[in-house]
Amino acid sequence: MIFSVDVEEWSQSILDNKSTKSDRVLDNTLRLLDLLDEHKHKATFFTLGNIAEHYPELIKKISENGHEIASHGFNHSSIFNLTPKQVKEEVGSSVKLLEDITGKKVIGFRAPNFSIREYLFEWYCEALAVNGLKYDSSLFPMKVIKYGIEKEYSLKIFNEYKIQEHYLSYTKIGNRKIPFFGGDFFRLVPYSITKQLSKQLNQKTGVFYFRPYELDSKELASMKKTNTDIPLKWRLTQFIGRNNVEEKLIKLMKDYDFNSFENTHYSGKSSIVKSNKLEVVVDNIITDKAIVQ
Ligand SMILES: [Zn+2]
Repeated sequence: MIFSVDVEEWSQSILDNKSTKSDRVLDNTLRLLDLLDEHKHKATFFTLGNIAEHYPELIKKISENGHEIASHGFNHSSIFNLTPKQVKEEVGSSVKLLEDITGKKVIGFRAPNFSIREYLFEWYCEALAVNGLKYDSSLFPMKVIKYGIEKEYSLKIFNEYKIQEHYLSYTKIGNRKIPFFGGDFFRLVPYSITKQLSKQLNQKTGVFYFRPYELDSKELASMKKTNTDIPLKWRLTQFIGRNNVEEKLIKLMKDYDFNSFENTHYSGKSSIVKSNKLEVVVDNIITDKAIVQ
């Protein structure tokens, strides 16, 4: 399985992408790194430029511990809120910074808030390709509250730019697709359900995702102290389950072997997307071809 991490602050992700960074992101990411290393897993860390700028030593340490550093943009700006020129700058500036810090080539990208829509494919793929990236992991092939694409779409443009797409994993219940493998779902439901559903995934290429702040059970209390205004809907959904998420993560880490995108798909010759033929990685349910036209 692939273990993917979005290195960001909760407040940047949900409240305001320009919000002040605290040391919480540092502590939470180091805790996650320890858990991965203790259980001998490798992961891909999609890292924000503005986090790397504040904590270059953290990024260096993640890379030196054998994990992959990929880009999550510079400022956690949703792609649909940017012009094509700004998309190129967000991708380019974050990739350059991460490469300068680690000395290693960055090959992957995840859009902030999974903010890809079909009408953005051309700009988006061009921005990734001109910055030398090989893959993207931003698409949820279903519509959920904040992200995802409802209708069927073609990945022809991704293929033209030689950008390989790795979907976030999902399951199908009836006709509904549920993005269960990571994020809020993982935090909110009992681990037994995640375990049961994950058995149907491709055991090598299924994609789990996690944000370090989900380990932080003290964040809400700390924000109350500083009088940060947090809307009720976020209080009700974003902080529940943080107390026992570490316990669930440890169970998950014992049940599966995790690796990075780079180690799984891009080491050696097989890593290069060679042909112009439409090539799609189905990370999820192997038999599900309906979404690709
Ligand atoms: Zn994010």
